[in-house]
Amino acid sequence: MTDAVRTTCPYCGVGCGVLARPDGSLVSVAADSDLRANWPSGHRALVSGATDSDLRAIRPSGHRTLTGDPAHPANHGRLCSKGSALAETLDDGERLLHPMVDGQGASWDEALDLVAARFRETIAAHGPDAVALYVSGQCLTEDYYVANKLMKGFIGTANIDTNSRLCMASSVAGHVRAFGEDVVPGVYEDLEEADLVVLVGSNLAWCHPVLHGRIAAARTARGTRVVVVDPRATATADGADLHLAIAPGGDVALFAGLLVHLDTAGAVDRGWLVAHAAGFDAALAAARETAPDLARIAAVTGLAAEDIARFYAWFAATPRTVTIYSQGVNQSSAGTDKVNAIINCHLATGRIGLPGAGPFSVTGQPNAMGGREVGGLANQLAAHMRFDQPEDLDRVRRFWGAPNLAERPGLKAVDLFAALRDGRVKALWIIATNPADSMPRAGLVREALAACPFVVVSDCWPTDTTERAHVVLPAAGWGEKDGTVTNSDRRISRQRAFRAPPGEARPDWWMLAEVARRMGFSEAFAWTSPAAVFREHAALSGFENDGARIFDIGALATLTDAAYEALEPVRWPLPAGGSGEGGRLFARGGFPTPDGRARLVPLRWRPPAARPDAEFPLLLNTGRLRDQWHTMTRTGLSPRLMAHESAPFVALAPGDAARIGAADGGLLRLTSAEGAALLRVAISRAQRPGEVFVPMHWTDAFSASGPVGRLVGAATDPVSGQPELKATPVRAEPV
Ligand code: SF4
Repeated sequence: MTDAVRTTCPYCGVGCGVLARPDGSLVSVAADSDLRANWPSGHRALVSGATDSDLRAIRPSGHRTLTGDPAHPANHGRLCSKGSALAETLDDGERLLHPMVDGQGASWDEALDLVAARFRETIAAHGPDAVALYVSGQCLTEDYYVANKLMKGFIGTANIDTNSRLCMASSVAGHVRAFGEDVVPGVYEDLEEADLVVLVGSNLAWCHPVLHGRIAAARTARGTRVVVVDPRATATADGADLHLAIAPGGDVALFAGLLVHLDTAGAVDRGWLVAHAAGFDAALAAARETAPDLARIAAVTGLAAEDIARFYAWFAATPRTVTIYSQGVNQSSAGTDKVNAIINCHLATGRIGLPGAGPFSVTGQPNAMGGREVGGLANQLAAHMRFDQPEDLDRVRRFWGAPNLAERPGLKAVDLFAALRDGRVKALWIIATNPADSMPRAGLVREALAACPFVVVSDCWPTDTTERAHVVLPAAGWGEKDGTVTNSDRRISRQRAFRAPPGEARPDWWMLAEVARRMGFSEAFAWTSPAAVFREHAALSGFENDGARIFDIGALATLTDAAYEALEPVRWPLPAGGSGEGGRLFARGGFPTPDGRARLVPLRWRPPAARPDAEFPLLLNTGRLRDQWHTMTRTGLSPRLMAHESAPFVALAPGDAARIGAADGGLLRLTSAEGAALLRVAISRAQRPGEVFVPMHWTDAFSASGPVGRLVGAATDPVSGQPELKATPVRAEPV
């Protein structure tokens, strides 16, 4: 029996450690009785409708080829249903195995030469902004680093964006506005040390189940109160002390009202504010305008005044409060304002960076955070440096020896595909993501891909996007390549290979570096290993960094190959010469702003961009299911995971179903201004009247209804560029 390889789960931003046996032999795990402490009975109440077999699936019992890593600080050996089914997704049967050009097999040299030549020709004829990369929170940090360096440093355009734009961009923008840098102040242990956990727009029980289990254990141990703010009565809301079924888009008003209440109740920490933050008076004045009284807040949020008052009283009275927010906050045309409305309340009370206290963004993807660290968003430069800082541009230019550094932000995802459609972008390389299904206005994205003169896609499996590519490059996937990811509490962990890639599949960083060399940039892309890429990334983070930038992992810039191989999970900041890993941040100020103080942001509530009307009277919300991931390319391979929900559906409230004559299990045509889908009806008391929910996972490959992205409009947050994926007007008709 070989030693188990320590790696991390490729799904969500919790970043759970996984043990894998390269030879397929079994890993023994603790006896079931030992695990009861990890998954107390309280958890069961929070997983709505979970059967005994469901519960067995979300805890590491028995013997498996893959199991949770007891030594990983994120999960201490636990895995959720998705992570525990990873071994079932390692089948090579449908993998992309060889490079393809125009549907015909090609050698790597032929394919890479063609990509380099077409990119060079396009740039020569139309300028660097005519090419683009669209990458993914599934990419490892090393993949991301090479992609960003190639585009921003050498091709000379910032037209590189990522599907993290659909996931976390509003949190990034909110962090930068409040803290001066995209930094999560807290650590996972805060979830266990809080007396009040407020979950806003987060179905943690399904989307980050291991974190939810940690909170459930804390509730048993210390009686933590849980408040859930979510339009739907989700599995997370099921066991909460208070569920605020808020109207979509009401969050800014709810938290503006909280800020006013904190001031009235004497819960504002004025001493902390004077020392460490600016903008309180303006933020409070704006909050008073937008949330003058409970009646107004109740009208905007659709909540009962007494429930709002109870939430405010609990928050004001509980110093150890953590507010977790996720896609229900981010995926909104007011997403950045929602993030800042939450952060304002934590800054006003000085509840930040303390044990059990702080605002906490949980990332959707395994490496959304790592991508942000390298600058994988079109409006970021690199290593948390900024386009609007001339000294940052100069620093990055000198560090990279960049001949052609981009000096302004590029196209964000929705704008990027619009530019593809109208011909401004003429060559696009898509890496590890499936925008033909997952983007808003997916129908138009498909037309844009068809119209683009040159589309390259690197991926592991065929998708509705690879179908539309001129060049398809077979990518090494999870368990087949080496690199790092960063989870939601800033912890960098290794992903390690434990099996050979099938066919001719290769890592993305290698493909990108090969294309860069073929474009004439050999010297700057001469790495021969992911360890070498990581060292350069770490060195850039610490380059001329006197503490002005919190993201600093300069201490890892000198890792030997062996030390990189053995790297333990470690949390940043990790400056060169520092000791120990990074911990909680900002309790005593030290914000990376010119004056070292945080900023409260004055905010005014506004409704979602599109409102229901006579033609489209319902509001469509989209989201995840417990057992599926993204467009199901991996989780769709597991019969066990598919058994949870085997087909797409539309959930709607009983009153709405009766009004339109829809029967449970019957078929419904859902139509928006963008497109239509045929879906099975699931009548659900979890839905607010007037709102419907459709899971985001199904694609043409799995269902005749196609992706729900075809119904979603193009409204975006004006600051973050994140699309509004949770508030699309639709009409529903039985068929
Ligand atoms: Fe993987 Fe997230 Fe589940 Fe952990 S909680 S096993 S990271 S999907």
